[in-house]
Amino acid sequence: MALRFALMIDPLAADETNSELRSTFTAVDPAAPALTVGELSTQRGDGIFESIGVVDGHPQEVEAHLDRLAHSAELCDLPAPHIDQWREAVAIAAAECGPGEGVVKLILSRGVEHGPTPTAWATAASAADFTAVRRDGIRVVTLDRGYAIDAPARAPWLLLGAKTLSYAVNMAALREAHRRDADDAVFLSSDGFVLEAPTASLILRRGDTFVTPAPNGGILHGTTQLSLFDHLAARGFETGYETIPVDELRGADAAWLVSSVRLAAPVREIDGVAVDVDPEFTASLNDYLLSPRD
Ligand code: PLP
Repeated sequence: MALRFALMIDPLAADETNSELRSTFTAVDPAAPALTVGELSTQRGDGIFESIGVVDGHPQEVEAHLDRLAHSAELCDLPAPHIDQWREAVAIAAAECGPGEGVVKLILSRGVEHGPTPTAWATAASAADFTAVRRDGIRVVTLDRGYAIDAPARAPWLLLGAKTLSYAVNMAALREAHRRDADDAVFLSSDGFVLEAPTASLILRRGDTFVTPAPNGGILHGTTQLSLFDHLAARGFETGYETIPVDELRGADAAWLVSSVRLAAPVREIDGVAVDVDPEFTASLNDYLLSPRD
């Protein structure tokens, strides 16, 4: 996923009196160095991000991503993002993604050690081709995340509901899944409830009802899941948030991992046991996800 474009954002230069938001951006060469060695995002992963899917230049679900960016900032005690400024940055970056599917990434870092300001930037890239995975599905393994379902309430400093830059654990879980001959992982709480995947939300089907783990269990509230639930409700299906024991994952009629760039990947195996995949239904979900969404 080669970067096509990068925009440095001055988060403190945007305020109610600044109508020239574009003057707070500086386009930089995405292949050239742009951060200082004192950056806390690189030293400590101390910052937050969003990855926004782009289809033929249209950024998907921008407001939901900006809401989550603001929520992550609040959880991390970062300055509240100036939403108009970020919306403008998304529009500029999305226009640079090129034809087909792309991804705009937004990053807000605590900034430079001992420095006065946070650091922020946006990038644009073309997306990998996920056609096969959307059609053929993925094999997942369940992995213990090591926290009980009530950990976020007891220990908010774990920042479990924030989309922080500290994804080393998520990447380690993916490597473990690959070691176990699977494509992806589903995290479980230490007390046996289903949470999310390292980079995606989980949706289960039970008859005509679709459920997803409640976002208060220390998981991200996925923008793709939110959008799909609206779509499913409009098609007459029931949707809901639940605390889901692992047995219900194994007993589901169907399951998907959903996320902004890969979109809906049907699960075809859980811990080595085959799961039914409905290719036509999954294709209808991905058709919806690929249509312009606001
Ligand atoms: N959960 C985690 C941990 C993620 O990293 C992501 C996306 O990257 C998601 C869920 C899905 O979120 P979205 O649908 O907004 O991409």
